[in-house]
Amino acid sequence: MTYNNIEKRRIALRDWLKRNPHKIKEYNKKYKEKKREWREKNKEKLKIRIEKWRQKNLKHVLSLQKIYYQKNKIKHNFLGKQRLIKRKLLCFQKYTKGSPECNCCGEKEVKFLSIDHLNGGGRMQRLRIGGGGDHMYRWLIKNNFPSGFQVLCHNCNQAKGSYGVCPHGN
Ligand SMILES: [Zn+2]
Ligand SMILES: [Zn+2]
Repeated sequence: MTYNNIEKRRIALRDWLKRNPHKIKEYNKKYKEKKREWREKNKEKLKIRIEKWRQKNLKHVLSLQKIYYQKNKIKHNFLGKQRLIKRKLLCFQKYTKGSPECNCCGEKEVKFLSIDHLNGGGRMQRLRIGGGGDHMYRWLIKNNFPSGFQVLCHNCNQAKGSYGVCPHGN
């Protein structure tokens, strides 16, 4: 067949398809069904074939998995961090009647703030609930914000921990 003939047939086919759009849909539907049936019938064969392909292209597969994992790790980490920040803020708000600040020096930068145990015993508390940080925030929320806690900035908290009182003297 010459090039011209091929081109002519292609144009004719395109015209015919344009005039019979439902035929394409019908054909696609049938084709999909057949494919599904075939897949259903050859499940085991396919499994073996995929596994063989996987083994042959192991390096490629592993690198794809790595990329996928890393992409999702970033996403997961980001979402986790957002939730942690939310929990943290909620705790600060509960212990400062709405506007988070250090109960000693009035520091308002949330990144400097932390939860302090009024009567000390932070270490024991952390041991009891399995850790500080997010463990602590989760625990406070779960226990409906029990009394005995306050918000302090890291400076004041550290000073109180080391010297018993903060040099601010509040
Ligand atoms: Zn402070
Ligand atoms: Zn202070």
